[in-house]
Amino acid sequence: MKTIYCIGELLIDFVAEKQGSDLSKANEFTKKPGGAPANVACAIAKLGGSSKFIGCVGDDPFGTFLLDVLKANHVDISLAQRSKYFTTLAFVSLAENGERDFVFSRGADKKLKYLPEVKKGFNGQMVHLGAATALLGGNLEEAYGRYFFDALTQNAFISFDPNFRGDLWKNNEEVFIKKCKPFVEKAHLCKFSLEEAQLLSGETDLEKACGHLHKIGTQIITITLGGEGTFVSTPTMKTTIPSIEVDPVDTTGAGDAFIGCLLYQISTLGKAEEILNDHELLHKMVKKANIAGALTTTGYGAIPSLPNLEALQAYEV
Ligand code: ATP
Repeated sequence: MKTIYCIGELLIDFVAEKQGSDLSKANEFTKKPGGAPANVACAIAKLGGSSKFIGCVGDDPFGTFLLDVLKANHVDISLAQRSKYFTTLAFVSLAENGERDFVFSRGADKKLKYLPEVKKGFNGQMVHLGAATALLGGNLEEAYGRYFFDALTQNAFISFDPNFRGDLWKNNEEVFIKKCKPFVEKAHLCKFSLEEAQLLSGETDLEKACGHLHKIGTQIITITLGGEGTFVSTPTMKTTIPSIEVDPVDTTGAGDAFIGCLLYQISTLGKAEEILNDHELLHKMVKKANIAGALTTTGYGAIPSLPNLEALQAYEV
């Protein structure tokens, strides 16, 4: 089984207690672990995979809490860093339908340092880059770019999720699109939301959007569509793979559960690249990943709701 290095942010989500209210009206918040790449690392480890997290938290009680959660979920945190800056915080409110509204207060996540000795571990393994905060500048962006380059030179299987957050890129979408391009060009696998696929391609039609994104370079595109399932595209196949029916209460982390589950399955292949040419295998794996995403929406918070292998195996694929 390959190890999957998940690089990016780990932060506290303060989730508004009262569902259906926006952040301006929310009074009580519950502390939850968050950060998409960290969620992905947990999703992989919870299924029995091998994941290592590379990111930075503050040398404060929130940072300790976050690393404890990763450890408890069997994520290898030996490459996680701590900074004198305060742990990054996100405030989240949930609408009645489980959709979210975000506000970020950034701190330690942007202080991630590049460590050259990490590179040799990437050799022939897998690297997942989640970009919610990673392309916003500072040490994190530099470290992120250098780890990406290392992953390329070490023949790692590379996965990329742009994790576009509108409030982080206020009227700066063009910069975001430009910064994502090298990752879309070189990653073997990209996971987009519909909004991200449209934003990065400049096309509203899904097939046209994928055509454009394949031209940039990536070979496998998954576009997650919530309850509708996932649109999958390779240069020779395009199809929507349906999800299962669930009653969602909180969609936080569904996309991370999806990509974590897909990467976990790829990590069990003799050669990760097998997935690039075997459409039947890809179809099956996405179907399973859809179930992981769906199950995550049935509980509150991302990490506590991620399914383990037993929960997933209860469903026929
Ligand atoms: P995130 O918001 O965490 O970045 P996302 O918007 O990319 O994630 P979603 O599309 O909400 O992720 O969900 C990921 C996958 O989980 C979907 O492709 C789908 O298979 C499954 N899923 C999500 N919501 C539901 C739902 N309500 N019913 C069934 N399956 C769902």
